[in-house]
Amino acid sequence: MPAWSWASVLPTVGFYLAWSGLALLSHFAERTTLAPTAAALLLGAILVTNVLLAFLHLPGARAGLDGIVATAQAGLAIAWTTVYAVLAEGPGELVPAMYLTAVLIAFTRTSAERLRQLALAASGGYAMSVIVRLLAGGSVAGLWGELLQCAGVIGMLVVLDRRARHSEAEQQDLATHVNRLQQEVRRVTRSAERDHLTKSFSRQYIMEALLREKARADRTGRGFSICIFDLDRFKDLNDANGHVVGDRVLTVFAERARRALRTMDSINPTRYRRALGRLGGEEFIAVLPATDIAGALRSAERVREAVASHPVGSELQVTVSAGVAEYRPGESIPDLLTRADQAMYAAKRSGRNRVRVSAVRQPKDEPKGPPKPNLRVVR
Ligand code: GH3
Ligand code: MG
Ligand code: MG
Repeated sequence: MPAWSWASVLPTVGFYLAWSGLALLSHFAERTTLAPTAAALLLGAILVTNVLLAFLHLPGARAGLDGIVATAQAGLAIAWTTVYAVLAEGPGELVPAMYLTAVLIAFTRTSAERLRQLALAASGGYAMSVIVRLLAGGSVAGLWGELLQCAGVIGMLVVLDRRARHSEAEQQDLATHVNRLQQEVRRVTRSAERDHLTKSFSRQYIMEALLREKARADRTGRGFSICIFDLDRFKDLNDANGHVVGDRVLTVFAERARRALRTMDSINPTRYRRALGRLGGEEFIAVLPATDIAGALRSAERVREAVASHPVGSELQVTVSAGVAEYRPGESIPDLLTRADQAMYAAKRSGRNRVRVSAVRQPKDEPKGPPKPNLRVVR
């Protein structure tokens, strides 16, 4: 929001134009008069002080100044009203309403507390001007009328004050409510990002992460890879040991995989974190930003080894097969996932508990020659 706008000077300009006009009419009607020199000095002072104040509020000024400037504008209007009330000759019938409108300059733009202070300043200014006028032997003719107006003005200020307090309380309620809603949105978002059983990222989160990685790769030319993991013969494990044990195996797999991926992070540190997500059932995916196929193969091997190297619990031997694919510039995420999936199924076909990679390039660009034994390429 800009720090300055026309709306912030309009109430002040309106105040001075309206009251100068009324004071002028009263002067020519010979009711309340002001000596020409006093009028000129007062107008000059009003102009200079308000222009100086407007400088505080120029575009680019510190944000959040509006409330302070509005209070200062109202404060100045109260001060100049007091000067007018003291210098003018004749009944001060315009003065109470002048004070009221001076306070109203800041009405919608400052706190209830500040408005109360302004109302207090206006009352003090008015009382002082009345005393000065009486001491100077001024006219007391219209004083009762003025005091009656004052009672009306005070009544209005009380009503306005109550409204201001009420809206401030409402604003506070609203702020608390918005805060609570924001916390709830954050909690639900965090919850939607996670798979509760394995504490891995959810499928939805991983799909969004993949789209982000693709966009980044297309923009910066920095590639990424993925590994798809599928636990071997998991149905048999479930049938033999029950679902609860199966769930425990899934949790242990995710813990070991995360630890292995983190270890790779510290061996080859990048500022991009590897994310393990659960695609569904006993199928997981690791997104490896800024990682080429060789790095991805090492990561997948490490996970495979971490799973196979020691049993879950005391005797459950678990293994995992993995398929690795590096993003080919321009390819779609479904195509990338399909290639990694095909590599994973190739690992299953060739005996399970192993990692297979998908060719980095399109088959037509592929160099001739037999693939390396543990780096069998799937086309
Ligand atoms: P393969 O080696 O070919 O992958 O064989 P598999 O038995 O692992 O594959 P299959 O897809 O036939 O079986 C997957 C099983 O995973 C079937 C289902 O009972 C089990 N499963 C899926 N989700 C969960 C889960 O949340 N908890 C448990 N305990 N089991 C699950
Ligand atoms: Mg399986
Ligand atoms: Mg499966």
